[in-house]
Amino acid sequence: MVKKRIFCIVAAIVLIGGLAALLYADSRGDAGDRNKQGTAQIRAFIYHHFGKQDKYPSTSVSVKQFRNHLEYFKKHDYTVLPLGKALDRMYSGGDLPEKTAVLTIDDGYRSIWENAVPLLDKYGYKATIFVPAGHVGGDNYLSWEKVAGLQEKGHEIGNHSHSHPYFLNSDSGEIAEAFEADLKKAHALFRRHLGEVPDLYAYPFGEYHPEMFAVLEKYGYRAAAAQKSGVICPGSEKFALPRFPMNFHYAEMESFTEKLRMNALPVAGVKPESPVVSGENPPRLRIRVADSGIDPGGLQCFVSGQKNCTVKRSRQEGALVIQVRSRDKLDSRRTLYTITAPSADGEQWHWYSHLWVVPEIAE
Ligand SMILES: [Zn+2]
Repeated sequence: MVKKRIFCIVAAIVLIGGLAALLYADSRGDAGDRNKQGTAQIRAFIYHHFGKQDKYPSTSVSVKQFRNHLEYFKKHDYTVLPLGKALDRMYSGGDLPEKTAVLTIDDGYRSIWENAVPLLDKYGYKATIFVPAGHVGGDNYLSWEKVAGLQEKGHEIGNHSHSHPYFLNSDSGEIAEAFEADLKKAHALFRRHLGEVPDLYAYPFGEYHPEMFAVLEKYGYRAAAAQKSGVICPGSEKFALPRFPMNFHYAEMESFTEKLRMNALPVAGVKPESPVVSGENPPRLRIRVADSGIDPGGLQCFVSGQKNCTVKRSRQEGALVIQVRSRDKLDSRRTLYTITAPSADGEQWHWYSHLWVVPEIAE
């Protein structure tokens, strides 16, 4: 009896010891991964037109501005990668240099070939070019020959839909269907002209919806890019990756380098997930920030760049919960709530943006 009890006690100690060792190893592993992931960040930029600022001021950069960006990367030892390669390295935990930048170009305009490609060739940088398949070959757009030529040069081609529609104008519950129908049309063209279908997607007008995520997953897409400013990190929603938009104004060096110095705000949960404003307007955003490396006291919020919002902070199960709401009704089709916070040591800034879309408002 005594022997049996001793055996039980010894067994229990061994078991508890083993469990503790396992948990310890696990927690170390988690912390190790978190640290590794914490440093993995990608600053991605969106360009549209090059050298067309008179005609398209909100989506153009000048050739000089673009050259300045590439020169800055070179001078400051940036690693410039196509989006797919940068994501591969980030998700595999492989070698992703701290100074990694991604150049993405949406819409497939002709000025890419005329004004951007000669500079990309000169500097040896590869970009990710998202083309709306149904527009290729049209006035002002690249031809399929040129798209294939870009691919031959080592640039990455992504899908930017077939006909660049406003998918969120479909009723909720019908978005996935409209999206899938357009996706299939685009795939047929990609297959015919390039012999393959891209595995990266960029939403027309950056307007995404969680209903689309399952469709992209079904067709084997690895990731999708939105048009909300922010830094990509392992915790980013892979089907709504943030990118900093570049235009004549934002492409000036002060604004551009500010984005390069930004860090991701480590967001662990977002409510609501959908950007569609349905119900109360102005909408309420609730985000959970898991990391304690930021100074909540220095938190700021912006509505389309203006400090016109209320912020509430609270603590829940060790996480910081931030609630943001615009003071005014959102009266544009697309609005960004942006939250910035200094790091705990005050040395760096963290950034997160959430997109809101009011589909009833036409552009
Ligand atoms: Zn577009």
